[in-house]
This record gives sequence, structure tokens and C-alpha cells, in this order.
Amino acid sequence: MDHMTDNSKNKIFLETEIFRKESNKPITWKDIKHIEFQDDDKINIGFDEGFYSENNSWDPHYYVTITRNVLETDEQYQKRQEQIKLDEKWSRARQFKSYKSLKIKFEDSCKYCGSPTGSCTDVEAESCSENPNNLK
Ligand SMILES: [Zn+2]
Repeated sequence: MDHMTDNSKNKIFLETEIFRKESNKPITWKDIKHIEFQDDDKINIGFDEGFYSENNSWDPHYYVTITRNVLETDEQYQKRQEQIKLDEKWSRARQFKSYKSLKIKFEDSCKYCGSPTGSCTDVEAESCSENPNNLK
């Protein structure tokens, strides 16, 4: 599961796979009885009917996965923090790009309402309804 969207500066809990087994035979108690289960561990057990295509194929099989919410490691924490910084950088770059194009678009506009110069009656915008000086 992707938790890279969590912007917390503190360590967070990540849903982590702690056990996985695939087998031609049905999964049984002996496959998982060594695990020291915790109350909220999630057990996903089932049968995959297999898949065949030109690019990718796998045979039918039984499977079990067990996931647990585990506090992220130092390495995962660092990686997530770096991703947050990168996301902020790209977000700012996108905002700046749209700021520049909007700046060009509105360069010659009324600074109160954004109307093209002239359509706001005059350059000083004395009659502009958005001009705070006209709110007397
Ligand atoms: Zn105006």
C-alpha cells in the first residue's frame, strides 16, 4: 500500500506484509501457526485461478498474506520525507508556471476586478465596483 501521500513529520504506521506463502496445495494451519499473531493482523487467504497472456502468466495457486501496521523504519521515514520535499518542490514549480502565465494574461488589466483595461471605464479604476476606494 502506498502511504507516500501521508505528510506527517512524525513516524507513521505502515501496513506491512509480514508473511506470504504460495502453494499448489491448500494453505493450512501448519503454514501459519508459527506466527505470533496480534489482534489487528489482517489475514488474506484464497485461491488464484491463474492468468495467461503473451506478456505475463502465472499458474493457479493457493496463497496467504498477513499484514500488520508497523511503525515505519528510519529508512522508510527518510524516503517519505524526501518524497514530501520533492512533491512540494514540484507543486511550487507548477504554481509558479501558472502564476507566470496568469501574470502575463492580467498584466494590462484592472488590478481590482481583472477586466481588460478600458472596459472598467477608466485606467484609474475609479468606477470599478471592486476597487476598495469606491466602497464609500
Ligand atoms: Zn475594475
